[in-house]
Amino acid sequence: MRLIDSLVRTSRRRSPWLFHLNAGSCNGCDIELVACLTPRYDVEQLGIRLEGSPRHADIIVVSGPVTRTTRAALETVYAQVPDPKVVVALGSCPASCNVFAGSPTVEGPLDRILPVDVYVPGCPPRPDAIIAGIAEAIALLAEGGHA
Ligand code: SF4
Repeated sequence: MRLIDSLVRTSRRRSPWLFHLNAGSCNGCDIELVACLTPRYDVEQLGIRLEGSPRHADIIVVSGPVTRTTRAALETVYAQVPDPKVVVALGSCPASCNVFAGSPTVEGPLDRILPVDVYVPGCPPRPDAIIAGIAEAIALLAEGGHA
């Protein structure tokens, strides 16, 4: 492996950047994700940060059941995140559609559309569960994620 490849790989493993996409959630999960960044949990001190561009991200965090109107954006984001990458399903909605199951506007669950690597259960999950899920995603990323 070239030195530059090794450096990139190490820095991505130690400072993973997350791109969060709300695919039709009620915002409950999104608020809990934001709580992970507040001083009480402060995941940024571990090098974990939310990134505004999918092109610079390593981990995609998806909340919500995936609606008809968010599916195209989700597929675009997935294509834009460089390989290797990891997909985290945040909360019960992307896992099962939860309370939105059966709605004609819902196209999820998420694994019908993207390969899901980590599930963080809960409605909504607490920040400590989210951080545990991100830690699992980081471990998968270190193993090469999926291309
Ligand atoms: S899992 Fe619960 S809190 Fe999270 S988006 Fe769905 S309904 Fe809202």
